[in-house]
Amino acid sequence: MNGPDFFDKASLITAHDEGNAFDAVVPPIVQTSLFTFPNYDEMLETYRGEKVRPTYTRGLNPTVRMFEEMLAKLEGAEDAIGFASGMSAISSAVLSFVEPGDRIVAVRHIYPDAFRLFGTLLARMRIEVTYVDGRDEAAVASALPGAKLFYMESPTSWVMEAHDIGALAALAKSRGIPTIIDNSWASPVFQRPLSLGVDVVVHSASKYLGGHSDVVAGVVAGSKGLIGRIRGEAYPYLGGKLSPFDAWLLIRGLRTLPIRMRAHQASGLEIARRLQDHPIVEKVCHPGLANLLPAGLTGTSGLFSFVFRDGIDIRTFADRLKLFKLGVSWGGHESLIVPGEVVLQQKAQPNSAMAFGVHPRSVRLHVGLEGTEALWSDLEAAIDASEEKT
Ligand SMILES: *Cc1c(COP(=O)(O)O)cnc(C)c1O
Repeated sequence: MNGPDFFDKASLITAHDEGNAFDAVVPPIVQTSLFTFPNYDEMLETYRGEKVRPTYTRGLNPTVRMFEEMLAKLEGAEDAIGFASGMSAISSAVLSFVEPGDRIVAVRHIYPDAFRLFGTLLARMRIEVTYVDGRDEAAVASALPGAKLFYMESPTSWVMEAHDIGALAALAKSRGIPTIIDNSWASPVFQRPLSLGVDVVVHSASKYLGGHSDVVAGVVAGSKGLIGRIRGEAYPYLGGKLSPFDAWLLIRGLRTLPIRMRAHQASGLEIARRLQDHPIVEKVCHPGLANLLPAGLTGTSGLFSFVFRDGIDIRTFADRLKLFKLGVSWGGHESLIVPGEVVLQQKAQPNSAMAFGVHPRSVRLHVGLEGTEALWSDLEAAIDASEEKT
């Protein structure tokens, strides 16, 4: 939000490694599955753990490691691990903390596929999940006793409920319960959960970290001890390894993360305010419209939702938009919409969309980098067209 903060963080990601081949500003992609040893003794030392060097890319790859170190610095973490997707990061992290018979407490309206992971694979392992409104600290406090893990996301998916992360993390800490948070929405530019007392941060790097809609990836960050626990079992044996090329794309994406986030924030907030003032809009779910952001959240991104009043043809609205494309995901340069009434008809999991708080007259917007006025004209024209029809 404020200048100095951005540029402090920017220095963490713009510095390049002088040790790179040819002093290249952009690091080479070490696109290899394995690394050979010059002799028997070096292989033996490596296997004995006396020497740390790449052996096989599912374990350690220099390009992936460079991304992990940059992300760890941004989150203020001791260590990080890259994954092949956000879901791979989430499942590996969660499975490192629970066993059959355990109970997890989760905030409600988490990312739908995380909700489905909990309701399918984890349920089959007899792991139970209690959902609570993360804005209700008393409800969180009464759900926590006996839980093995507290799973957070703030702001939450679709309805964007924002929480006082520090307060919630303290409630879990006082009971010795480890905490994981999905920080994809705010990115480390606007929210650094480890500094607020959360134990482990997960990201869908497919969103803002990558920033160009050309990579699916994930990352987990935290202390050496907790990341070591994930690195020891779930990471190698579930095997959701981040590829060197995707890591290289993420390194490229991170260079511009702070300035992209500033642009998404400015356009997103302006469009949210104009929608809120528009007579056809019933409600806008954007944490930046409250008088105060929750403690620890220092800015807002470009993803939010709003609910139309009765009497709008959402199909016409969607088809009339030119800059906003119909599409899932978010965090790239492009503006996107997802109509709630479509999500509610998702065949694979008919009932689960209700659990995410999706209103049938709602629309989720991702405000990209096309420019506020152009995007607003696009929205206004589509709204006018869909009002005329009804
Ligand atoms: C997209 C998303 C995920 C899943 O990430 P993938 O990279 O698609 O596996 C997790 N959490 C949130 C909040 C997301 O938006």
